[in-house]
Amino acid sequence: MKLLLDNYYREINYLRISITDRCNLRCRYCMPEEGVELIEHEELLTYEEILKVVEVFASNGISKVRLTGGEPLVRRGVMDLIEGIASTEGIKDLSLTTNGILLREYTTDLVRVGLRRINISLDTLRPDRFAYITRRDKFKEVWEGIEEALRHRLSPVKINIVVIKGFNDDEIKDFARLSLTYPLHVRFIEFMPVGEGNGWNEELVIPHSQVMEEIRELGELIPIRPQDNDGPAKRYYLKGGKGEIGFISPISSHICSRCNRLRLTPDGKIRTCLFSDEEIDLKGTLRGSGGKERLEEILHRALEAKPERHRIGDLRFKKCQRGMYAIGG
Ligand code: SAM
Ligand code: SF4
Repeated sequence: MKLLLDNYYREINYLRISITDRCNLRCRYCMPEEGVELIEHEELLTYEEILKVVEVFASNGISKVRLTGGEPLVRRGVMDLIEGIASTEGIKDLSLTTNGILLREYTTDLVRVGLRRINISLDTLRPDRFAYITRRDKFKEVWEGIEEALRHRLSPVKINIVVIKGFNDDEIKDFARLSLTYPLHVRFIEFMPVGEGNGWNEELVIPHSQVMEEIRELGELIPIRPQDNDGPAKRYYLKGGKGEIGFISPISSHICSRCNRLRLTPDGKIRTCLFSDEEIDLKGTLRGSGGKERLEEILHRALEAKPERHRIGDLRFKKCQRGMYAIGG
């Protein structure tokens, strides 16, 4: 098995692929109400192109893949792509991040084509708040999608919550309680400065030390010994709980030393850091005469370009322009 190391000796084994910038929700912190100027269809990587990238990267040491978007389940034919990636040699772990709207309908197929685990984004347990933050009245669909994923024993089923001051910080314990009742991995994510005009400012970020303090009112929060592929997440469980509680804190703590990933955008650019607009073009090579060696060269170029850490908090920090819907989170 090959090992991919970047300039800071971090092992990079994880590729997040955003397969579309289209979405069936309009979360206020991610996409404007009227939608966005979408990437032209011809500019999107085809499934054949994505599979070629996965195959070459996997033969060089990438073993984990996550599909994301926009909303990955709205792209036509996505089951074929999942099946192709699941059966690519070297890929040991394949997951999907979804808003859950289509999950009730698609879970059976997802399991059939080889998906074993899933992340579902849900920022509130209150239907009226859900309708406000996503601008769509579809809480019921998402909750039924979560139940369906649990019924099919996708494992783990992770729920991602972006905690925003004044919006859902009074629901922290309600979310944490879910991990007592269900085998869910509940993960609190700090609100991040990605995308022009997404409403971010530092005041809206609730540091995870504060979230943890609240959760401890429910019982003992026991740390889980870190595993190699945890990436930036810190994992815990509440004593007696069936699930887990995790924290992803890019703002309040420096998680960059544990960063293990590269990102591929829907239009075929590699991003080496979520918070930087520097991108390396892969599509030109895929569509030009470039074969395996050229793709490998680009992979190594990306490893060399991967910054040591993000610059949020520095005076020089500039919010990146590409929206989260076109990066994938
Ligand atoms: N549409 C899918 C979904 O919502 O799960 C996948 C794409 S979405 C961009 C991926 C994740 O990014 C979601 O969990 C979403 O809540 C999160 N996200 C979007 N904008 C964010 C921001 N500014 N800060 C933190 N997380 C954000
Ligand atoms: Fe769509 Fe996900 Fe962005 Fe919400 S967070 S608008 S569901 S891409």
